[in-house]
Amino acid sequence: MMGHPFGPAERLAALEAMASRPVDLLVIGGGVTGCGLARDAALRGLAVALVEKVDFAYGASSRSSKLVHGGVRYLAYGDVGLVRESAHERKVLGTIAPHLVHPLRFLFPLYKGDSVAKLRVGFAMFDRLAGSTRQERHRVLKAEEIRERVPHLRDPLIGGFEFTEYITDDARLTFENALSAAEHGAFVANHAAVTSFILDDGRLAGARVRDELDGQTREVRAAVVVNATGPWAEETIGLGQSPAPKHVLPSKGIHLLFKADRLPVCGAVALTSPAGREGFAIRRWNYVYVGTSDVAHEGTLDEPVADRAAIDDVLRMAQDCFPSLGLTGADVVATWAGLRPLIAEEGKAPRDTSRHDEVWRSPEGLLSIVGGKLTTHRRMGERVMEYVAKELGRDLGDAHRTTEVPLPGAEFGGRDFPAFRDATAAALGARGVPASAAERITWLYGAAANELLRFGDEDAGWLEPLAPGSSAVRGEVRLAVEQGMALTLADILDRRTGLLLFSDDHGLAAAPAAATIAGELLGWSEAQVAAQLEAYRQLASAHTLPGVAQRVPVAG
Ligand SMILES: Cc1cc2nc3c(=O)[nH]c(=O)nc-3n(C[C@H](O)[C@H](O)[C@H](O)COP(=O)(O)OP(=O)(O)OC[C@H]3O[C@@H](n4cnc5c(N)ncnc54)[C@H](O)[C@@H]3O)c2cc1C
Repeated sequence: MMGHPFGPAERLAALEAMASRPVDLLVIGGGVTGCGLARDAALRGLAVALVEKVDFAYGASSRSSKLVHGGVRYLAYGDVGLVRESAHERKVLGTIAPHLVHPLRFLFPLYKGDSVAKLRVGFAMFDRLAGSTRQERHRVLKAEEIRERVPHLRDPLIGGFEFTEYITDDARLTFENALSAAEHGAFVANHAAVTSFILDDGRLAGARVRDELDGQTREVRAAVVVNATGPWAEETIGLGQSPAPKHVLPSKGIHLLFKADRLPVCGAVALTSPAGREGFAIRRWNYVYVGTSDVAHEGTLDEPVADRAAIDDVLRMAQDCFPSLGLTGADVVATWAGLRPLIAEEGKAPRDTSRHDEVWRSPEGLLSIVGGKLTTHRRMGERVMEYVAKELGRDLGDAHRTTEVPLPGAEFGGRDFPAFRDATAAALGARGVPASAAERITWLYGAAANELLRFGDEDAGWLEPLAPGSSAVRGEVRLAVEQGMALTLADILDRRTGLLLFSDDHGLAAAPAAATIAGELLGWSEAQVAAQLEAYRQLASAHTLPGVAQRVPVAG
């Protein structure tokens, strides 16, 4: 019997298959851009290989603000095209992945001196461009209505607007694109890095791929190679012979996570401090995250962390916008930082740099897709495919299947998502899973929650929490390993379950049980289990506010 396309044995099979015969397209980078492109190409019937040096969504694609958004802010920059495209894409995602685009009512409070008339025109224009439905359309709110939803916002409020954006799990969205690509025939492997290119008579003919788990290097030959390595794009171009035509500007953005009982926000709210510092606070489950920053980043691109200056800046904004709450660093439960892969524009600061994307072609034939947003990843893939078609000299049709074929988590059998979610949460509840854990599971996994129910029917232990009070159940580790190509504890606790960023303790209390389960399934020795735990503790401490002790003692 064939295993799941993302079972642990299938990764090795995929690496061997991509090295055994030339593919049409080799995609380098398993962020949302690369995974979306691989999915598009596989849906058009191409022979596709995708390699990711660490794990799907290891880079920016798990460290974003997690919004699938129309980008009302871009209107201020006159970027009408980007707003229109983003708004279109959120509709497409609502069709192919309703479990991954959750509506979020966004508040825009107004203070004395704000130009109400100008903003009213802006929101009306946004609704028109975005083709907002009746429920999505903006509304004018009185100050009391804003205060009801965000009780501690600074005064003197004079009213505000409410409009609709969508919240997603960026890592899950990326992962499901990768899985969908594999389900449609792509050879996909994480923990596999491109280390150099293969040239035939000066023309790019493939790449050498090193398996980061066993060190073995394979040659993958491809008619077309696409560099989708986001912030690493210039580094990847550097593996070839020709320099990049422009610079990539990695711009660091950070977020601070609070518990919602300390920072009560319903939905999301745009923030402006009295000093004019702008940001937002977004509710997700029992947490609220506040962001962000936009500062040119220098130095290594791997594992960016929230630095002290950015933390102080964002924390000060939160303090100034919610003065009565007395927020301090001790209230910050987690931090994260990501690098936006912007295309540098002469004389422009990161915040003012456009979020548009471009495809560059090197003289040897390497295609690089640079810039863009999580929200527009599907359209970016479509644009790259036009170049791929030119390189292959073939008509590859259009991307209509990417707008029609559901992502794997949306295959819940014809019912609408709220009906599926409620029925699944009830089924989990009937098996003893607490309501908050059931809500998190259905929100995150969509149809894959059915697998957890199936595990629970085999053995009720799979639905027990990973640690007392943890919102994650033991079966999630099994799901990550058997059907998620998770090969390290960080793959499981950061990008598959989300516990690193969205739990009270970075998932540290759950880590020993998760390591034991993964170790049994993956055949880790005791020493390997210990090494995985140690590496994970270090990762967790990099997501803690520096100087603030982790509040839960580390078990195990
Ligand atoms: C702070 C912040 C907030 C954001 N908020 C939003 C938002 O709310 N909404 C939105 O739409 N967008 C948002 N974005 C933008 C969005 O996150 C990025 O545009 C998007 O995730 C970039 O995806 P990518 O695949 O191009 O890059 P990445 O996700 O960084 O992926 C590149 C991948 O390439 C891999 N790689 C590198 N070198 C190699 C190699 N040699 N071999 C194999 N693999 C390699 C890396 O490991 C990495 O996984 C935000 C970004 C940031 C940083």
